[in-house]
Amino acid sequence: MAGNIKLEIVTPSKSVVDDDAQIIVAPGTLGEFGVMIGHTPFLSSLKVGAIRYKDKGGTERVIFVSGGFAEVLPDKVTILAESAERRKDISIERAKSAFERAKRRLENEDRDIDFERAKAALERALYRLRILESPQAM
Ligand code: ATP
Repeated sequence: MAGNIKLEIVTPSKSVVDDDAQIIVAPGTLGEFGVMIGHTPFLSSLKVGAIRYKDKGGTERVIFVSGGFAEVLPDKVTILAESAERRKDISIERAKSAFERAKRRLENEDRDIDFERAKAALERALYRLRILESPQAM
């Protein structure tokens, strides 16, 4: 179908993306989904991972999301996430130190740690690093 679909990615503190997309792919909790203009409306929760979209010029863009929700309408996708960064804004140093910190917490069994919280932090850091290691140029 011809035409672009609007994409908005927002966090509690800022708007991360406000753009037009040819296609958007997102990590739904029930599986990855892709949408183009004219899609049937639906709501989905999101896993930690990457939102990928092709902008109107055909460039592929990648954005880290820490999970959240997606609202899909025929002409617009809105992503609400606790945190999100465009690939170019991800700090490798920060992600590496978050990874090391979370790993130390999980390895240190004799301390009273919040296991789920450390695991979630590790997962966010891993996905940020994975996005940086992927070959896309953005
Ligand atoms: P950290 O322990 O480094 O804060 P985190 O996974 O706990 O990592 P989040 O709670 O997901 O961090 O995000 C807090 C804020 O910091 C958000 O605004 C997020 O966009 C930003 N942020 C976190 N990690 C990075 C990173 N590696 N590069 C750029 N921004 C980051």
